[in-house]
Amino acid sequence: MIDQDDWRLQGQTFSNDELLRFERYVPPRPGSEHDHCEFCWTPFRTVQPEGPPVATEGFTTGDQRWICEPCYEDFKVVFDWRLMS
Ligand SMILES: [Zn+2]
Repeated sequence: MIDQDDWRLQGQTFSNDELLRFERYVPPRPGSEHDHCEFCWTPFRTVQPEGPPVATEGFTTGDQRWICEPCYEDFKVVFDWRLMS
């Protein structure tokens, strides 16, 4: 169970019953890879570089907001997300 004081909760808002899709990360424009997980700020990149781990796939709302897999698992009940199959 997630604590409401979890450091990753920073007032993010999602519409009720937000529908998420699990996808490989796609930048908004080619070469423009500046997206982070909405919660823990793990960077999203199209390829795994050397160095700290990044997310190459995750959950997206379709409006260029990305959520990494661990955060999805931790917050799916809090936000009542549904997954598009
Ligand atoms: Zn995350």
